[in-house]
Formats: sequence, C-alpha cells, structure tokens
Amino acid sequence: MGMVSLGCPKNLVDSERILTKLRSDGYAMSPDYAGADVVLVNTCGFLDSAKEESLEAIGEAIAENGRVIVTGCMGKEAEVIRARFPNVLAVTGAHQYEEVVGAVHDAAPMPPSPFVNLVPDAGLKLTPRHYSYLKISEGCNHRCAFCIIPALRGDLVSRRPDAILREAEKLVEAGTKELLVISQDTSAYGVDIRKEPRAWKGGEVIPHMTDLARELGKIAPWVRLHYVYPYPHVDQVIPLMAEGLILPYLDIPFQHASPSVLRAMKRPANEAKVLERLKKWREIAPDLTIRSTFVVGFPGETEADFQYLLDWLDEAQLDRVGAFRFEPVEGAAANDLPGAVPEEVKEERYARIMEKTAAISAAKLQAKIGRTLEVIIDEVGEEGGATGRSQADAPEIDGEVFLRDAGHLSQGDIVQVEIEDADEHDLYGVPLA
Ligand code: SF4
Repeated sequence: MGMVSLGCPKNLVDSERILTKLRSDGYAMSPDYAGADVVLVNTCGFLDSAKEESLEAIGEAIAENGRVIVTGCMGKEAEVIRARFPNVLAVTGAHQYEEVVGAVHDAAPMPPSPFVNLVPDAGLKLTPRHYSYLKISEGCNHRCAFCIIPALRGDLVSRRPDAILREAEKLVEAGTKELLVISQDTSAYGVDIRKEPRAWKGGEVIPHMTDLARELGKIAPWVRLHYVYPYPHVDQVIPLMAEGLILPYLDIPFQHASPSVLRAMKRPANEAKVLERLKKWREIAPDLTIRSTFVVGFPGETEADFQYLLDWLDEAQLDRVGAFRFEPVEGAAANDLPGAVPEEVKEERYARIMEKTAAISAAKLQAKIGRTLEVIIDEVGEEGGATGRSQADAPEIDGEVFLRDAGHLSQGDIVQVEIEDADEHDLYGVPLA
C-alpha cells in the first residue's frame, strides 16, 4: 500500500485515519511506488495550483505504479480526474473513509494476519449466524415530538448502496439467511445521496429503498424491512414481495391513527389514505404482514382520539402490534405539550389497545392453521422439537413457530411447515418431509 498525501493538515489527518484503518486491516505501507500493490493519492483542490499539483501526483503514481485510487478534495471533480486518467481504479471524496477503504479492499484483497483472522470477514456479530441486522443509514430528518434521536445522531446520512450490498454478500457468505434491514427511517434511504448511483454487478444501483431492496433480495433468501414509513413510494416495494424477492413483511411504526394526535406528534407520512393503501398492498401481496407500534396517552390525546385509533385498528387488521404508554424523554419537545394524560387513563387505554390487538393477532394466527408456511429454524432442541419463525415473524419482536418431529433440522434451515395449531402469539406445526 503506497500513499501520497497532499494539501492541508485536515487532509493529513484524513490520510492518517485511512492509514490507521488500513494498517489494522493488515496492510503494510510501502515507502516507494514499486513495492505497493495499490497507491492512494489524497488530493487537495483548494486552489487551481493545488489541483494541478494533485493531478501531477496522480499522473506520477499512474506512471510509476499503475494501480491508483484517488481520494480527498478533488474527489468532487471525478470527471476531470477520469478524463485525464481513465485508468484510475476509484475516485472518492474527502472524509469518505468507508468508501476509500472499500476501494482499497477491492483493489488489493485484505492480507491475512493473526490479528485480522480473529475477526471474521463479515465482522463480529451479536446475532446468531443465520440472521443479521443490516444498517443502511444513520440519523433522521424528521423531528417527531417524542423522539430525541435526531438530536443525538443528527440528520439522515445514508450509506452508499454498493457498500451495503457488499456487506450483505459477506454476511450471506458467512451463513446469514435472513437480512433485517434497519435504520431510523428506511423509506427515506438515499434522499441525501439520490444523485450518486454506484456501480454494481456490471450495472448501477440507485440509492433508493426500492432499488436497494431488489438487489438485497437477489443476495439473501430472506430480506425483511424494518422502520418503513408509509410514504407513497413504499407502494413500489410491494410488487417485490409478490415476486418473492423480499419477505411480505413491513414494520411500520404508525404510533397513532388520529390525525390530531399525529399532527401533535409531528409524524412523517401522516396522510389520510393509509387504510386504502393497506388494502391495495394486500391485494398485490396477500400474505403481507404488517407490524407496528403505537403510543397511548400522548399529551392531548382525548377519548375520541383513542377511540378513533381503536376503530382504525379494526379496519387496518395489523398482524403484530406493540403498544407503549407515553413517557417523557429528557430533551423531547413533547414534554412541553399541554394536555398531559393522567397515568390511570394511560393504563386503561393501554389495556384496551392490547386487548384489541391481541384479538386481531389471534384471529390472524388461527386462520393459518392447516396452511403450509415457510419457516426458518432458530434452534433445534434435544427432544426432537425445534423453534423457528415464519415469514411473518421477525426475531425477538414477533411470534415463533414451535415444531415437532424436527430433530433432523439445523439452525438456519428454511423448511416448509404444516401449521397444526395456534395461540395468541405463536404457531405450532410439523415440517414436511
Ligand atoms: S421517531 Fe423515528 S422518524 Fe421520528 S424523529 Fe425519531 S427517529 Fe425520526
């Protein structure tokens, strides 16, 4: 690995950071061009003279070594660089550490080392090998009144799609069967980098939830979308579910249904036609499971608002629902809203919403008795039993499928199961031969 660092102290710090990461990945530094598998040129673009110096440095590295990655401030002028040096391997901008390190990994595979070998290719994971969480962005552009995440983590910053897809491939190579796509707002993925499509598998991938979901669906057997808000473009992912590319499952944190409470909460994608859209989605993907969460007792919630929510739930027939009693979170705008709901009223509403949603869930599960469903195996017991989840169940938060006569199965297997029984939350069945 060779490095030419130009420009100001900020650029130098960036170079050090990139080198530190590459060093910890096991790359050795070469003091000359000849000894390097790839040369990184960290450019400066502050003045025309600095740009010219950067272009000269790129030219020299290409002439001396030939395998060159460009990063730094001139990354903004990728066309200028590519026009003059069509052979550069990659061009990334300033502070894009993940991208530049990814480009080096692509250009020169990570060397084996005792330290690095302790870390599997897919990174260290806290979930079992057969399912993995895949984070696609950080932060959030909304300002919901009860939430302090934007204050803690800032506005939405999307990861570049090719980096996400590469991570997904590594996870699947390491044994992952199910990818759980997470973020603060999955449906907003890419709004900050919309005009930056990336090369992927001989074509391009656009940083948009639908395009990303389609590509992920080609990589992993099961892809599950969490934290999706019902923006109009969500309609476009439903056909991917009907095609079997991604799971017919959407985790949509509605939080409420009453328009006045949603307004007070400052919720995104708060529009009246959601019920009609749910109906249309189910026409396209009849097995669509919708999981959601709701807050009861938000400041200003009247009995009429709460009743509106219960009636809405009757119509919406959501498969899985979690409910929370509103609690002030330090620093949240909602704390200053008028109309605090007394604790005993919150409790009473909480009990009513749980009763309603449990009944809907139980009826939906009853309707599955006699059907054959695809189930992923989470655990195989010692006495011939196994526990798994259907496509309708995300790990940790939804129900399970308890299997008999399943001792021959292994964790991560995806099998067809005949459903024999159901209770309020879980299913019981037997794997088909
Ligand atoms: S609740 Fe979700 S959408 Fe709203 S501000 Fe917090 S992270 Fe963003």
